[in-house]
Amino acid sequence: MITGKPLYTVNQIQDRVKEIADAISDDFKGEELLVIPILKGAFMFASDLVRNIKVPLKMDFIMASSYLKTDSTGEVTLHCDVRENVMDRNVLLVEDIVDTGVTLNYIRERLLQKRPRSLKICGLLDKRERREVDVPLDYIGFEIPDVFVVGYGLDYDNKYRNLPYLAVFKKESDER
Ligand code: 5GP
Repeated sequence: MITGKPLYTVNQIQDRVKEIADAISDDFKGEELLVIPILKGAFMFASDLVRNIKVPLKMDFIMASSYLKTDSTGEVTLHCDVRENVMDRNVLLVEDIVDTGVTLNYIRERLLQKRPRSLKICGLLDKRERREVDVPLDYIGFEIPDVFVVGYGLDYDNKYRNLPYLAVFKKESDER
């Protein structure tokens, strides 16, 4: 079930997304970006983000998973890889939430092998206290404690992605 009031409201999210997009637009003035959201969770964040970025960009997508319901499996499965040529491009990887860092680290290493001109990482949520692998994050929406979050693209068992805000999710069995 979803508990209490939103962790972040629609307005808080939209304000922060605009701030991040402005920072990205400043950092890449005069350049072109290749924006790569990691599906499925980053689809909503990425769509708001790119609508606010003011430099020219192209998009591609990666689909990966490492979670089973609310638990990390520690193993990354790549369901769909990039099709654009990454070599010598300014790549911006967009992730919904960085938890242990395993997923992002795996994808980052793969992309670096393709020799981009630059590779920046933008994460909406950062659960820093859970980190096991140190991945460099260039743009972060919000740092959050160790809670399980749904909404704004993030799921529990592929549900709740359509909530326009971010909420804390608790399994029924956690409730005593
Ligand atoms: P990591 O590899 O960093 O441990 O996990 C990253 C992935 O796990 C995220 O892309 C997301 O799919 C999933 N994940 C981690 N924490 C949460 C959470 O609080 N809520 C949801 N819905 N997914 C999470």
